[in-house]
Amino acid sequence: MSTDKNIATVLAHAGGSPDPRTGAVVPGIAPATTFARGTDYALPSPGHLYSRDDNDLYRQAEALIARMEGAEETRLFASGMAAIAAVFRSVPQGAAVVVQSGIYWGTTVWVRKFCKRNALALVECDTSDPARLSETLEQAAADLVFIETPSNPTLKVTDIEAAANAAHEAGAVLVVDATASTPLVCQPMKFGADFVVHSATKALNGHSDLLAGVVSARDASSERWRLIAEERHDAGAVLGSFEAWLLLRGLRTLSLRVERMNANALAIARFLAGHDKVERVLYPGLETHPGHDIAVRQMSGGFGSLVSVLVKGGAEDALAAAGRLQIFLRATSLGGVESLVEHRYSIEGDATGVPKNLLRLSIGIEHADDLIADLDQALSL
Ligand SMILES: *Cc1c(COP(=O)(O)O)cnc(C)c1O
Repeated sequence: MSTDKNIATVLAHAGGSPDPRTGAVVPGIAPATTFARGTDYALPSPGHLYSRDDNDLYRQAEALIARMEGAEETRLFASGMAAIAAVFRSVPQGAAVVVQSGIYWGTTVWVRKFCKRNALALVECDTSDPARLSETLEQAAADLVFIETPSNPTLKVTDIEAAANAAHEAGAVLVVDATASTPLVCQPMKFGADFVVHSATKALNGHSDLLAGVVSARDASSERWRLIAEERHDAGAVLGSFEAWLLLRGLRTLSLRVERMNANALAIARFLAGHDKVERVLYPGLETHPGHDIAVRQMSGGFGSLVSVLVKGGAEDALAAAGRLQIFLRATSLGGVESLVEHRYSIEGDATGVPKNLLRLSIGIEHADDLIADLDQALSL
């Protein structure tokens, strides 16, 4: 498909065209792991040797995501964590890394263990304060800076451009986990990020039926990208063919889903901000959010589908409200078509400082009025 189309149009066609042989409008699932050579031992088709890397469905999904991201190249991984792990494995032995504090708990837990085992110096810092990041980088000669914006679950916004400048001045690369934004809302490479990761398990697929991850590179000729791509090819944390096919199917409706989820999330955040049982709402789309101006600058078409709410009272009050919800499902994860609620303190405990009365809402594509009515009845009792 030509490159001048709007991304919504490209996505609806999954970046593909009908199969030239059959006219099929949807690609087939290609389960073959290996490809037969001819009598002269030549491979009949270039790029088809062994499916750890050689899978046309991966290539189609990767091209589509690279295009949304403004990246030179993208690689799919078996999960968001596999993608993040591939990035951290590119850090040289003995180096230092700066990781944003209070981000996706799974990342924090894994990175702490990984750094400890591999003698990497790990500095955790609140990167939503650019001065703090610069100070940290002056003290630690970091190789890599990892941020998440907006962060999960406290929805802090980090200024990507400021973080990229600070990282580059210190000789580090900037990696952004933009899962909570999606590449339709935020393209961190425009602001200088070197690599972007997503858990495609979330909004990219959007149907809560697949684990997948991606890493994209602004400069595909870098040595570090070679290491990350090699990690996929050699260490092999790959998606299966069926999963790649499901991801492509999910991506076809991404722009519609993101539009609805983001509009719903903003309406819900505004409703909750005026509710008398609510202490505080954390959502970058609210003018009162400390990162709102930066969010306006680096996000477009919405502020994401994650909204966290501090319920008046303590853990018991938050859990009771969650227990009364009838449309929101009490489940972890985010970015799916169905709205979910999670009490993060029940998962993270005291280790992270997550407020005991925080409920994280992942807003789906249901009608906003129904979601608001559900929250109202659950909070008002
Ligand atoms: C879920 C999530 C991940 C991990 O992704 P998996 O696909 O579950 O491995 C990483 N970062 C963020 C922000 C997430 O929400």
